[in-house]
Amino acid sequence: MSRHLVNIFTNNDPASLDAMDFIMHELIEHGYTVTREYSPDACLIICIGGDGAFLETVHNCDFPSTPILGINTGHLGFFQEIEVDQISDFLEDFICGDYTIQRLTTVKCLVEDSEGSIYHHEGLNEIAIKGRQSYAVHLDISIDGIQIQKFSGDGVLCATAAGSTAYNYSLGGSIVDPRINLLQLTPIAPMNTIAYRSFTSSLMLPSDKTVTIIPEERDERIFIINDGIETGYRNLRSIQVTVSDKTIKLIRFKDYDFWSKVKSKFL
Ligand code: NAP
Repeated sequence: MSRHLVNIFTNNDPASLDAMDFIMHELIEHGYTVTREYSPDACLIICIGGDGAFLETVHNCDFPSTPILGINTGHLGFFQEIEVDQISDFLEDFICGDYTIQRLTTVKCLVEDSEGSIYHHEGLNEIAIKGRQSYAVHLDISIDGIQIQKFSGDGVLCATAAGSTAYNYSLGGSIVDPRINLLQLTPIAPMNTIAYRSFTSSLMLPSDKTVTIIPEERDERIFIINDGIETGYRNLRSIQVTVSDKTIKLIRFKDYDFWSKVKSKFL
């Protein structure tokens, strides 16, 4: 690892591009080399934008182990730690090692199609399983090989603690402190009638559990959506979802508090 190499990524908002020019200048003044190409040798990744830009950086860098600092430029910015006007203060703290690291666990899935081919997907927020357009899906869901429910509805979402405040929260799922390592299985518009019986609330699973999802034959087309990235499959045989051993390291100021952040962004 090079202690003086910093990777910087940004979305294309004018405010983000201005912030990038400013921070590059500040970093170079402090003796850092800055590159816009991902290098695993860097000591720090800086991501400018909102949570969308943060997720894109995580995916483009293939879930890096390098600590990431998020700089918010006018978005919700749940992952992002600082605003543009805090950059100079941050640099002083960073150089002195005066910061903390928040570790975020991630989720992965293994998809098998009808020919037996295997595909992998990873998510920081979640992996969602849905049908095409407005069609309901019918999913046989097992936990560690034990059949739990035959779900019918729009789909299911397997959220990490970090993703609990994203799509999961809009679906009525619970907000989870990221210090708790779990997988939250949240129904998306579950049908619960005499024709179909599905859980209507989230299931909280320990991080060592494997969720296996088998779509019924009539569900010809299934979409796997990891952090908003959609992949369509025909005649899927099974989907296995587990907590991944990859973690994302977020740089936080020393006084960072998860619940204060929730309050400031949601209430
Ligand atoms: P987007 O549709 O442009 O933005 C979705 C919103 O979710 C943005 O306001 C984003 O914040 C926010 N967000 C993302 N991750 C978050 C987190 N961990 N906690 C709190 N808020 C978060 O899509 P995007 O920006 O590429 O983000 C993809 C994510 O959107 C997916 O992973 C999924 O969780 C979420 N999503 C939500 C819904 C819903 O709530 N109905 C539907 C589809 C997808 P910024 O404004 O800072 O970017």
